[in-house]
Parts: sequence; structure tokens; C-alpha cells
Amino acid sequence: MSTQITGRTRLGGLLGSPVGHSLSPLMYNETFRLLGIDWVYLCFDTKHADLKSLVGGLREMDVFGFNITMPDKERIMEHLDGFSEAARMIGAVNTVKNENGKLIGHNTDGAGYTRSAAEQGYDIRSGAMTLLGAGGAASSIAVQAALDGVPVLHIVNRKGRSWKHAEQIVDLINRNTSCRADLTDLSDLTALRRCIEESSLLTNATSIGMAPAADASPIPDNSMLRPEMLVSDIIYNPRRTKLLEDAGRAGCRTFNGMYMLLHQGAAAFQIWTGLDMPVEEIRKKYFV
Ligand code: NDP
Repeated sequence: MSTQITGRTRLGGLLGSPVGHSLSPLMYNETFRLLGIDWVYLCFDTKHADLKSLVGGLREMDVFGFNITMPDKERIMEHLDGFSEAARMIGAVNTVKNENGKLIGHNTDGAGYTRSAAEQGYDIRSGAMTLLGAGGAASSIAVQAALDGVPVLHIVNRKGRSWKHAEQIVDLINRNTSCRADLTDLSDLTALRRCIEESSLLTNATSIGMAPAADASPIPDNSMLRPEMLVSDIIYNPRRTKLLEDAGRAGCRTFNGMYMLLHQGAAAFQIWTGLDMPVEEIRKKYFV
């Protein structure tokens, strides 16, 4: 245990299932130790839990807050007292802060991504973005990018499970932000090429290329990749996806999903404490 438990130590943690593989306890407990914060962070598997009772218990114990991962990011919402704008628009929560007994839900997944792009020196307001995917992670990125000022957002997904949801996200963004968003079918290669041609940032938020199917890329033709583009993948297993390999060969700058993973945690830590996480130290220890 990296944090010394005292009579005043406050509790927080991660709810979801499975949670055993999570890097979050290492990341947060080490941050608490480095900054001398008398808090501790544990994982709680919700597989057999009644979420209402669990949240009630955490509230009674006056936790500082908690994170939520799959499959509870949406159903946690009915047990909370308020939401950030991003969480409300996305319709999912990954971070809860206890504000004097009121549990306020936030979503830092998208902020994790936009902070990662900023760390690469990329200003999200500077050009159009093509976002591949319309699942949970993609929705968070789409909403946050729009809130952060991306002027044009091309969401590209296959016409399947998430299509209706993607239409709703596009509509929500167009009604509530100054971003102009649209939706394109991934199988329409002419339209995909046009979206990418217009964009300075390309992001894969589909599962295509994730291990064990790591030899796949969502981009079927590498001539779509221009050297002046920043290309990112939110997949972190493998660290270097086929898309990033192809983009690197095309001369593009690239970054992978470890950045989003680290920065969504740093954003949650900031919500709880108002402090910056020492991201370089945490990255070197756990995110290489
Ligand atoms: P979801 O299941 O919610 O979304 C998956 C997306 O990929 C959907 O748009 C889905 O389309 C699309 N997709 C999946 N398979 C195919 C395929 N064969 N062809 C075309 N499209 C496909 O998952 P998440 O959004 O939670 O996660 C997506 C990826 O992002 C995962 O690899 C995950 O590991 C990673 N991730 C990374 C994070 C980070 O911090 N770096 C955080 C969260 C996720 P459809 O809906 O039509 O099936």
C-alpha cells in the first residue's frame, strides 16, 4: 500500500466489473503519496452489487468521490444528485465528486482525450477532426471536442448498433455548441476520404485494431493519410496499432490511447482536489 492509513484517511475508489486489471489504484494512490494527501483508492467489483445500496453506502461513508467503469457508467446516473455539462450531454458518468454530501457526476473520458491532443501541441480549435467510432468512448470525445471548440467534427461509424445514438450525438452537438457535426458511413470510402481530407486530426475510437485482432486498421487505404495530420488511436493494447504504424510510415505525427487513459485520471483527480496530477512521474511509473 503506497499510502499510510490514518484515523483521518478518506476513501474513494472505482466501481465496475471487472476492475481487477485497473491501473487506477496505482495511479491515484501514488499521486496521493507524492502530494501528501491522506486519501486511499480501492476497487469495488459491482458484479453482484445493488448499485443503489452501494452508492448509498459510499455516501454515508463520506467518500471523497469515485470513478465508474463498464458496465455502470450510465445506470449510476439515477443515483446521483447533479451532473457536469459534459456528463449530461454524453449521458454517462465516469467520475463522481462528493460535494458536501451531494454526489455530482462528471465525464472525464473526453477531456482525457482533448488534454492528450493538447499535450502534443495540438489546438483542438485549429481545424476539423475526423472521429472514427460512435460507442461510449467516441461519444465522450465527440462531446468534449465540441465543448472545447472543434469547429467541424466528422463522426464516422459503420451503419450498425451505434448509428442511432450517433445521430443523436450529432444533433445534440449541433444544437448546443458552435461545432458543425455530421455523420458518415464507414463503408462509404469516398465520403471517408473527403472527411479525412478536410481534417487535421484523425482519431480512431472504434475497437478495430485492438488485441487480439491487432493486424486490422479502420483506414482501408493509406493514401488517405497525409503527413501534416496528427493521427491518434485511443486503443492502448497494443500500444502501437496498425493505424499508428501506417500513419507513422505516411509521415504523420501519432499518439496512442495511454495518453487518454492517463489524462482522464488526471482530470478526475483535478475535479476531486483542484490540484494537478504529477503526470510525468505517474506516466514513467505506470504508463509506458
Ligand atoms: P464500444 O463498444 O462502446 O464502441 C466500439 C466502437 O467501435 C463502436 O463505434 C463500434 O461500432 C465500433 N466497431 C467495433 N468493431 C467494429 C468493426 N469490426 N467494424 C467497424 N466498427 C466497429 O467501446 P468503447 O467506446 O468503450 O471502446 C472503444 C475502444 O476504445 C476500445 O478499444 C477500448 O479499449 C478503447 N478505450 C480506450 C480508452 C482510453 O482511455 N484510452 C477509454 C475507453 C475505451 P458499432 O457500435 O456499430 O458496433
